[in-house]
Amino acid sequence: LTSDERDVLARIEEEDVDFLRLQFTDILGTVKNVSVTADQAEKAFTEGIYFDGSSIEGFVRIQESDMRLVPDPSTFAVLPWRNTESGKAARLICDVYDTKTGEPFSGDPRHVLKSVLEEAQEMGYTVNAGPEPEFFVFDKDEDGRATTETHDAGGYFDLAPKDLASDLRREIIYNLEDMDFEVEASHHEVAEGQHEIDFKYDDGLTTADNIATFRSVVRATAEVNDVHATFMPKPIAHINGSGMHTHLSLFTEDGENAFHDADDEFNLSETAKQFLAGILDHAPAVTAVANPTVNSYKRLVPGYEAPVYVAWSDVNRSALIRKPAARVPAASRVELRSPDPSCNPYLALAAMIAAGLDGVKRELDCPDPVRENIYEFDAEKREEYSIETLPPNLGAAIDELEDDEVITSALGEHVAEKFVEAKQAEYDEYKAEVSEWEHDQYLETF
Ligand code: GLU
Ligand code: MG
Ligand code: MG
Repeated sequence: LTSDERDVLARIEEEDVDFLRLQFTDILGTVKNVSVTADQAEKAFTEGIYFDGSSIEGFVRIQESDMRLVPDPSTFAVLPWRNTESGKAARLICDVYDTKTGEPFSGDPRHVLKSVLEEAQEMGYTVNAGPEPEFFVFDKDEDGRATTETHDAGGYFDLAPKDLASDLRREIIYNLEDMDFEVEASHHEVAEGQHEIDFKYDDGLTTADNIATFRSVVRATAEVNDVHATFMPKPIAHINGSGMHTHLSLFTEDGENAFHDADDEFNLSETAKQFLAGILDHAPAVTAVANPTVNSYKRLVPGYEAPVYVAWSDVNRSALIRKPAARVPAASRVELRSPDPSCNPYLALAAMIAAGLDGVKRELDCPDPVRENIYEFDAEKREEYSIETLPPNLGAAIDELEDDEVITSALGEHVAEKFVEAKQAEYDEYKAEVSEWEHDQYLETF
């Protein structure tokens, strides 16, 4: 056992943990659990825990169904909402291995992200990422099913007594802190019932783990309070949806921010601009991964603070990429505003980072920032500024992904194939549906 692994065993003892939830994420971003008793911990570290992968959506083919989970000791955390008399539970996030080859399983999203981060490492960089996940809290009906009735009537940065959900938010934050999160800020978002909780940026892998954990903590805490929290990107038409803006920067091996240049007009280095240009270049394909549901595209429409056009800005919030003001050199970064919280955080970060790194490798030229409100541009003006539009729906985004070799190869053949297959099926199913809007428009007209 390594010393980190021994530390985990000691903490299991100390905290009197009875159950371990061994977690991993499937291709669609759903957290999966294999629960074992705490006395299996040592075995989990030394031998791994075997499970049948064929039952996991989009994961493996039948003939390679035996998978092995190997826990990452740095991810040990006691689950705060599970501390009942029936026994404490803790979780460990695992890497998935192929039992035949003994190699990391190519369908494991965590492995996909690790590979992209290794590539960054080979280029001399570590990647920092910080997300701003938004979510809605809704009431439940008598049967305990989620409704779309908002839990409160607060607005942006409103305070109690209007913000009835602030108690819930506080409880979520305490639970996150119990799990070693450093929560930086939280506020009521623009829409009724909408919230945002921001936690500290970290290296790419830790941030992806954190996003997965964050979503479970928010949902579980809401559940305990008999309300429903959702990361669905656009639960209600005609008001803001939920995004997950993602801040990115590259640091050099000696801990310097490779994105900072004090002499540049925007305080952005050449590397930062190339990275930014890479994301703009691959934006359509990245969208398929960062906005992976039919509903994601209901958010990416003009007028609701979500991006639609492929451009960057240092002043305007309608752009796809924003350069936030940085108080200190270490904080120079770019903010990608398209991702939404329904994404698989491992794959979405892998896609964004691969896109940026490709820009650095190809030394792409960065276009000028657009300082006007792009929502107000007409087609002609967009043409004049050569501003492209993000894919309008999941089907179009999947097509873009299939055509983008950089992003598909960052995902790896296995994941790219399974992801496209699952998402194409989702889109085809949706296309065949008839919606309420259509009834309202046509039923009595024709
Ligand atoms: N809710 C907005 C979105 O869909 C973002 C609002 C904000 O700027 O935080 O992206
Ligand atoms: Mg926000
Ligand atoms: Mg933001």
